[in-house]
Amino acid sequence: MTPNFALWPKAELHLHLEGAILPGTAAELAEKNGVDLGAKPEDLYSYADLSEFLAMYGRICQAVVTEEDFQRVTFEMLRECHASGARHVEFFISPHAHEGIPFATQFAGIRAGIAQARETIGLSALFAPGINREQGPEAAMAYLDACLAQRCDAMAGIGLDYNEAPFPPEPFAPVFARARAEGLQVSAHAGEGGPAAYVRGSIEALECQRIDHGYAVMDDPDLVARCRDAGILFTCCPTTTIYTTPWRDLTDPRHPIRRMHEAGLAVTINSDDPPFFSTTLAKEYEIAHRDLGFSLEALKGSVLTGLAKSWLPEAEKTRLAAEWSGEIDALIAGA
Ligand SMILES: [Zn+2]
Repeated sequence: MTPNFALWPKAELHLHLEGAILPGTAAELAEKNGVDLGAKPEDLYSYADLSEFLAMYGRICQAVVTEEDFQRVTFEMLRECHASGARHVEFFISPHAHEGIPFATQFAGIRAGIAQARETIGLSALFAPGINREQGPEAAMAYLDACLAQRCDAMAGIGLDYNEAPFPPEPFAPVFARARAEGLQVSAHAGEGGPAAYVRGSIEALECQRIDHGYAVMDDPDLVARCRDAGILFTCCPTTTIYTTPWRDLTDPRHPIRRMHEAGLAVTINSDDPPFFSTTLAKEYEIAHRDLGFSLEALKGSVLTGLAKSWLPEAEKTRLAAEWSGEIDALIAGA
């Protein structure tokens, strides 16, 4: 019997605010703000290919306008995570995708949404603006400046996002060095559409301890060993791989998430853009258990690894690890 993973305490570490807007909310905000989404709510998240996906993503971003809108989408996203058992969430934002909306407005709404989640459902959250690598390193530096001008306690890091190939990580080294010097954590999307060399570059040139996706690492055995020894965290998203990688069958024994886990890499299970991919965080755990070869003990290990490598303060992590470990043991024993 599949356990109810929504009961498991866990951290969500790979989630995009703009990819987590519920269809009904997108439709309501579009109506309120006079944006034509070009589809009924039930059809919003069906698309034929990546270009249709990106076009819809762009229109949905245009529908989120006021501080209250940003608060609403942030809170709703966190509430959905909480319903899947998340107790802590680290998410990416794409402020540059909301054309014409000041960063100050966006960040104020996001902060308010995080505060609302903390106060009403006891969930903690941190976020990282994602750099659009397609715009190049100069734009990325200006973007980092604009984000730092709005910095708050919840802004814990910076990420590297959007189409990987042909945008290798190395040119962004000065941007990441500056972010680290400012005390920000860093992560990079790599090895999803791009090659293993982009995973290597993100670790060597950008000094990332966290790689988002990272599947192509399995093409480079030396790099696998190095990542394992260095404890590099891979935030994997099972359902996303069906849409964005050549791995269309999650039960394939050669699926990279399965092999990453078998190779002893630090892997966590996450949901990425849940409504876009008709999934939830709890469903992704079900998939990991049913299709990707994660035993319940292995999933518990993933939960605790994710917590240990999250961007929470050390004392908080230690306290939560004891709490979550006991809860999961009891759930496994009762399953
Ligand atoms: Zn992502």
